[in-house]
Amino acid sequence: MSETAKAPSEARSLRFFLLSASLVAALCISGGFLGMALRDRELIEEEMVNRARRDFANIVMMRQWNARYGGVYVEKRPGVVSNPYLENPDITASDGKVYTKKNPALMTRELSELLHTVQGYAFHITSLRPLNPGNIADPREAEALKAFEAGAAERSWTEGEGRAAVFRYMAPLETDASCLQCHAQQGYRLGDVRGGISVSFQVGELQEKLRRNLLVIGGLGAATFILLVVSIVLLFRQMVRRLQEARAELMRLATTDALTGLANRRTILERLEEEVERHRRTDRPLACILLDIDHFKRINDRFGHPAGDEVLRQVARQLQTGVRVYDTAGRYGGEEFLAVLPEADPEAGRLVAERLRALVAGEVRCGDGEAVTASFGLAQYRKDESADALLARADQALYRAKEAGRNRVESEA
Ligand code: GH3
Ligand code: MG
Ligand code: MG
Repeated sequence: MSETAKAPSEARSLRFFLLSASLVAALCISGGFLGMALRDRELIEEEMVNRARRDFANIVMMRQWNARYGGVYVEKRPGVVSNPYLENPDITASDGKVYTKKNPALMTRELSELLHTVQGYAFHITSLRPLNPGNIADPREAEALKAFEAGAAERSWTEGEGRAAVFRYMAPLETDASCLQCHAQQGYRLGDVRGGISVSFQVGELQEKLRRNLLVIGGLGAATFILLVVSIVLLFRQMVRRLQEARAELMRLATTDALTGLANRRTILERLEEEVERHRRTDRPLACILLDIDHFKRINDRFGHPAGDEVLRQVARQLQTGVRVYDTAGRYGGEEFLAVLPEADPEAGRLVAERLRALVAGEVRCGDGEAVTASFGLAQYRKDESADALLARADQALYRAKEAGRNRVESEA
């Protein structure tokens, strides 16, 4: 696959990876933070129910205390009213003072009124069949009382919104001996669910705090997500950059000749094939030059292999300088080089080959400063011939240049 075809598909899979990673991160983070928020709410609700249960138990205990004495008497001072649901609630002491009886139900109601005004807290004793119409159940209480008759142990719910929100809890009151003092005529028996007490307290402020907490958790979740995605993107960009650099370096190593830095044999032959293909389609002129350093073996023998290598590098530099911008020069093998000249007619080909010959002869020096020369075989592409055939004709021209005395250009039309 070519580099250009590879790039978009790689970009696509990278985008896909980043999107999937971000999605997974978003899911994990929102799942984690949502779990935290829900657990928070659950704990607070549990705590509200526990508080209501404690309060309920306290009220029941106070009622039992009152019931144990069959009600308690308080002095009937101005403002103290007698319980209208009791027969003979008042007694007069020997000193003439009047005392009135507070039974459990009345005590519960009066305490509730007191707490309500002092702490915004209330409890309500109620029944589906109250003796006192003031103790009638509201719709939610009535619903809970019906559930208690069917066996439910408790009920809790929240009423109202925002700052006015109230948490309510209700549990049943079972009929005991003290209840029967007043309620026996209603047909209750010991152990029956006679009614219930509902406990209410304001939770608006608490809910406001919970909402704020949820916002903070949401904000933290979003910040964590952004941080994670930015880190993933940055890390990936860096990784991709390094991969691209490594790939470019690999490409360079695979396509260039290590000694001279020119295109290597495989690359220059590929270039020739491409140009032959293009020529077939367009019929534009094409030429190639094969050159071979003269008596190179002697240079090696006289000055050593490293000096020979240096000569190869010098020749490569001259080729690089001498070809036109759209030509390609490469190391064909050993001390032989190949230049591919697209759009070069015989005249242009000859001009380039001569220029290269003059450059090598004029600029390249071996160990003792003696000039180094090369012989050149120039071939012009013939319609429908193969790259190999074109190369073979360039080789024949090169052979003739060697035969004719070296340091010269011979051409095959
Ligand atoms: P001619 O003018 O007929 O081409 O003679 P020549 O001596 O150049 O030809 P020959 O083919 O006999 O010698 C080529 C030499 O190039 C032989 C080989 O040792 C040497 N050679 C091939 N590759 C390298 C290389 O990478 N570095 C060096 N220093 N020498 C090389
Ligand atoms: Mg040779
Ligand atoms: Mg040679």
